[in-house]
Amino acid sequence: MNDLSWLERKIDYSRRYSSTELMQLCHDISYDNVLNGGGPFGAIVTNGNGQIISVGVNRVIPNHDSTCHAEVMAIREAERKLQTHNLSAVSAILYTSCCPCYMCFGAVWWSGIKHICYDLTKQEAQKLGFQEGPTNSETWKLARQIKGIILEQIRCDIAISWRAFEKFKEIGLLY
Ligand SMILES: [Zn+2]
Repeated sequence: MNDLSWLERKIDYSRRYSSTELMQLCHDISYDNVLNGGGPFGAIVTNGNGQIISVGVNRVIPNHDSTCHAEVMAIREAERKLQTHNLSAVSAILYTSCCPCYMCFGAVWWSGIKHICYDLTKQEAQKLGFQEGPTNSETWKLARQIKGIILEQIRCDIAISWRAFEKFKEIGLLY
């Protein structure tokens, strides 16, 4: 259940992806992660050229670890691969299926990532029962002012965006 080789097989690290492709891929890995016992969230860190550095999926339940959100997993892996604790040097962009929660907001803050692209909103995740914490338009405004972090929404087709959530409703556990 905890083998993530299925995730690595979905990624081509040598090619450039468009931002739409990257967001669709976030949803695609979210869906497969639900099938593999995880939560319906996926994230990707790219460099400024649209090449993937790392991917992450939500493994809170299988790992018995509340910090295993997709964004945290992807950021940890990117820093490990590049042997740095600061991703600003590669102009890293974080793509994530859902707007980062309070914890992931903090992880981005300290990672050096300056650009986040997300699809689903905090309200949409909360509708399904997930707790997202006290981020709001003010905290994101501060992130922009103090750290230069840009938050951008990229909307996918609703059938793509909601596929992992729908599957999770069928078979998953809330936490
Ligand atoms: Zn999170």
